[in-house]
Amino acid sequence: MAFGIYISVPFCRTKCSYCNFASDVFSRAVFDRYVDRVCADMANASQAAREMGGHIENAVDSIYLGGGTPTVLETEQLERVFSTVRSQFDVSPEAEITVECAPGTLTPGILESLLRCGVNRVSLGVQSFVDQEAAAVGRLHNREKVLEDIARLRAVGITNINIDLIAGLPHQTADSWEFSLAETIATTAPHVSVYMLEVDEDSRLGRELLAGGTRYHAHFVPDEESMADFYIAACERLTKAGIAQYEISNFARESFESRHNLKYWTRQPYFGFGVDAHSMLLSVTGEVEAVRFAPADSLERYMSGAASQRTPVSRQSALEESFFLGLRLAQGISLRELSERFGDEALQEPHAAIGELVKDGLMEVRGDFAQLTSRGRLLSNEVFERFLAADEIVR
Ligand code: SF4
Repeated sequence: MAFGIYISVPFCRTKCSYCNFASDVFSRAVFDRYVDRVCADMANASQAAREMGGHIENAVDSIYLGGGTPTVLETEQLERVFSTVRSQFDVSPEAEITVECAPGTLTPGILESLLRCGVNRVSLGVQSFVDQEAAAVGRLHNREKVLEDIARLRAVGITNINIDLIAGLPHQTADSWEFSLAETIATTAPHVSVYMLEVDEDSRLGRELLAGGTRYHAHFVPDEESMADFYIAACERLTKAGIAQYEISNFARESFESRHNLKYWTRQPYFGFGVDAHSMLLSVTGEVEAVRFAPADSLERYMSGAASQRTPVSRQSALEESFFLGLRLAQGISLRELSERFGDEALQEPHAAIGELVKDGLMEVRGDFAQLTSRGRLLSNEVFERFLAADEIVR
């Protein structure tokens, strides 16, 4: 089975206040060594897979370069990453090849380099078309720059473009959110991702919000109810514009769904390289269904060769994953397929949970498919917990 490759580039020009990823601002001096290490890991992929108890074939049908901001790399470094992928794996000519870009980093040199690397999809971290909102969280671009970058991508033939938006940025209002949605639709980009602001200890803005402070414009962050309203508005507006919701946070015009990201939700194999880049491979032994593993989540530990963390996926875990990953998709999960794969007995408890969730208005069953309702999508974490074994929730 062909698999997907994810490569993490944890370097950014500045650290956005809401960002809880393993990315940061580092000296350019480390870029070269990092690329060397990632390329060495790719050359060693088969052995690493074996050591983890996973299986890979050589065929690759999607590549996703994320981070971080991959386009801060030098063109030579970017091209070295891609030439290593192509020398180590058999990349399908039809592969979806995505690079995440921060608006404002697409220099003419980088654009040419993306083309030389065969990149055919770009994901732009726009977050907001309102300059005040983008600036408040430390983004370095404005609306004009985003529109310019989209035009330049199209001029060189890269038309498969994703726009990332965040609902819940400081200063956001119903009107300003509507403006960002309208601008997004007006670009005619075929893919849009809408995330709700995450409030946790892993970002500066999150910590400030939890502490009730005012730094990073925290006191201008809309309340939870408004964020939920923004999300609902996005679902309605984008769907009406022909950009259908196919996953909790993702919307696409027909046949522009992200093939790479679909692997995550449908439990297809993928191999991640670089800081905090997660992998999921089918198991070579019959004892477990699959293996998940990830290298260190800090640059320092990754560069010093810290061992990857391995998590075997038992049959029970695979069933739970099928529910909480598959239910992220608008089409939901096929109960018939699950019963063929895991047996009717294994599905007794999930069936009972579905019955309760249907009564609560969080799920619905259409024919053979169980799916989230729009309220279920808003409360998805609550729904997913119902499909986890009790001991896993306690953990
Ligand atoms: S550009 Fe993206 S990865 Fe980098 S700090 Fe901002 S949100 Fe995080």
